[in-house]
Amino acid sequence: MKIYCCKEHVELALDVFVDEEETFPALCTVDNPNDLSTTCEYCSSTSAYIVENA
Ligand SMILES: [Zn+2]
Repeated sequence: MKIYCCKEHVELALDVFVDEEETFPALCTVDNPNDLSTTCEYCSSTSAYIVENA
């Protein structure tokens, strides 16, 4: 799975990932947030991190 999240929701995204995948994720930063139209999964902010399979 892959979760886009803002700085406020990164801990929530990590919790959801561990709960669903039962393993720890890789946490990647979004380098060019202005170029990415994807928003946070949990609010309407621009995503700052991507939580995905390591
Ligand atoms: Zn958010």
